[in-house]
Amino acid sequence: MRRVLVIGDGQLGLMLAGAAARLGISLDRMSPEAGLLYRGTGREPEVLPPHWDADGYDVVTAEREHLPDNAWMQRLARHPGFGARAAIAELADRRSQKALLDRLGIPTAEWRVVHGEEDLQALLERFGAPVVVKAARGGYDGRGQWRFGVAGAVPPPPALYGQMIAERGVAFRRELSLVGARSADGSLAFYPLVENRHRAGMLRSTVAPARARPVAQQRAEAMLGRILRALDYVGVMAMELFEEDDVLLVNELAPRVHNSGHWSQDGAPVDQFELHLRALCGWPLPEAPEPATTAMLNLVGCSFDPRWLSLPGVRLHWYGKEVREGRKLGHLNLRARNEADLARQLDGLAPWLDADHALAAREAAQALREHAQPIRSGSPIAAARRKAGRAISLAR
Ligand code: AMP
Repeated sequence: MRRVLVIGDGQLGLMLAGAAARLGISLDRMSPEAGLLYRGTGREPEVLPPHWDADGYDVVTAEREHLPDNAWMQRLARHPGFGARAAIAELADRRSQKALLDRLGIPTAEWRVVHGEEDLQALLERFGAPVVVKAARGGYDGRGQWRFGVAGAVPPPPALYGQMIAERGVAFRRELSLVGARSADGSLAFYPLVENRHRAGMLRSTVAPARARPVAQQRAEAMLGRILRALDYVGVMAMELFEEDDVLLVNELAPRVHNSGHWSQDGAPVDQFELHLRALCGWPLPEAPEPATTAMLNLVGCSFDPRWLSLPGVRLHWYGKEVREGRKLGHLNLRARNEADLARQLDGLAPWLDADHALAAREAAQALREHAQPIRSGSPIAAARRKAGRAISLAR
């Protein structure tokens, strides 16, 4: 039996544990801050002895890229089964992540390290407002992000000079992402591009697959494939993209399973959690199954409502965390035969959602209605859509 340790005690590790249980993999999760171990999907932690070094595990992986620099992590970094630790460290800092993209010739918004206000002014003069400022380390879900050059915006804190990057504000048409995996033998597998909507920097909904031309899918797969190979990375990685005119710019990379891949739990034959485990265990990656038309709605800071389940085609994933404002507490996956039906399902949820979530559902439904504009079957566009909708395409 394979034994996998996940660093992190959040919902991503919990969902990995759910997939592992089905595959006969023994998977535990640990808090690297508190030195606590959670067995499988268990919620009751065990306190780890001070010199515990995870030597009972074949593979070590992480559910987040921001890891503390403490004695637990120093020991885990030496574990022979933690192959992704160098890649995680490189991607966890926006400076080295952006430098990697530049080195690989992968398009990303123009950027520079911010040492003082003159760096912000330089970007402002060159590209105009807004300049988007981000903490080099530790920011997520829109935290550690500021706008510069916009009236009334909170300025970035000078205390972080040297520890921030600034980039051109991108006037994107849409935000997309690509989730894919690489095995140790070099096999690659990709889901289709998906369309994401954020609010205040936090993902609120995903529609899968995105309406995208096959050439966009190919381009995105080539970009992520290049990154995975360059880092000699094994496992699932997510690439968040801005679509600006017809250009795909990488916003950021996440060396882990990702919120924009949650749709795959109910919309693809092999979900991203199983895909990650298969890659880590050296098992075959799946071949090109057709994805269902799926929408994922994040549940943020709201209470559990069983009425969500009264609609057919709705699957609830509830993380069992304490309800707190602005916290991701669960998600709903909705699937249907086609985009028009899925848009109607999202509308049907509205009575059981607060205004904030009803807006997110309406936005996703609107995106689907745009997808569902009539396209004659047999037309070149319909053929292109069928091709772009393939769930996982294997490339070597
Ligand atoms: P991030 O934490 O980098 O993923 O940023 C969170 C969200 O902020 C993104 O999903 C975008 O909606 C927005 N954002 C980040 N960077 C930029 C940028 N350079 N231009 C415009 N919007 C951005």
